[in-house]
Amino acid sequence: MKILIVEDELIFRRMVKKTLQEAGYDVVEAEDGQAAWELFQREPFQFVITDWMMPGLSGPQLVQKIRTSAQTTYTYIIMLTAMDDKDNVVLGLEAGADEYLTKPFNSGELKARVASGTRILKLEEQLIQAREKMEILAMHDGLTGLLNRRAIEEYAEAEFNMAARKDRPLGIILMDIDHFKSVNDQYGHKVGDDTLRQVAQALTADLRKYDRAGRWGGEEFILVLPDAQPQQLISVAERLRVRIAETKISLENGESFSVNISLGVAWATEQFPTLPKLIDAADQALYHAKQGGRNQVCIFEPLQ
Ligand code: GH3
Ligand code: MG
Ligand code: MG
Ligand code: MG
Repeated sequence: MKILIVEDELIFRRMVKKTLQEAGYDVVEAEDGQAAWELFQREPFQFVITDWMMPGLSGPQLVQKIRTSAQTTYTYIIMLTAMDDKDNVVLGLEAGADEYLTKPFNSGELKARVASGTRILKLEEQLIQAREKMEILAMHDGLTGLLNRRAIEEYAEAEFNMAARKDRPLGIILMDIDHFKSVNDQYGHKVGDDTLRQVAQALTADLRKYDRAGRWGGEEFILVLPDAQPQQLISVAERLRVRIAETKISLENGESFSVNISLGVAWATEQFPTLPKLIDAADQALYHAKQGGRNQVCIFEPLQ
């Protein structure tokens, strides 16, 4: 852990430095608030111990600058103050300090405060990691690992708005596994789940940078393809149809089988003022693919 000490009195600064170095911390010194702020901008410290009264940038001003900077990680700040009257302590904490120490202090107390600050930083870090994990979990479908319906809808909505504003193409491909019920009936639910996972994997095999695949429902999937022309969409859909038909799903007894999918393709035009209308069009095309005998790609017929 690297700690930045900001203190204009040399003797005092060295004292703090020595105590912390003995306790095993890396210490960087700054002789006033301005110097500290310049160091901080180059390298955001996780831990800062700052004096209150300094020429130029004061302790509370430094704290305020740190707090309003666009930081990704938290900085724990201890304010040192010679003034032990409570009003100043309150001011320091209000400026954003986490803790204060009144000068003079003993080295045991300093070390204990720093140790408690590092514990808090560790908890903070764990919390951030847990949150990130939750976010990933909340966006993805547990079975296939694809974006779940809400997440893919959000992505599609953002791309739809961007496509409308910039007058750029946007394609939607909706697909549904043919006679999937009979896979479950014939081989059991576990093999059914395996099939969904393998179909999902086939879908993501050659997506471009901004293409996204999502699980739309039980055995239905959706692809969102920004910047793709109709002809590209149709060939992507056709390629997927063939790839999935050729995917061998293995059974425990060594045998294997495969599934087919039906696909509906639609792309943004003035005919579809909202995303749900565009998705609806892809759904109608998918319906036609089913009606036409399944295992095929249909496109939504735009109005002439
Ligand atoms: P169609 O060609 O008309 O699409 O026929 P289908 O049998 O695929 O369609 P249907 O809607 O009748 O059946 C879908 C099946 O998908 C029924 C449901 O049990 C199964 N299913 C949905 N979600 C899951 C899942 O997460 N795991 C498994 N194993 N099956 C699922
Ligand atoms: Mg001072
Ligand atoms: Mg279905
Ligand atoms: Mg189906």
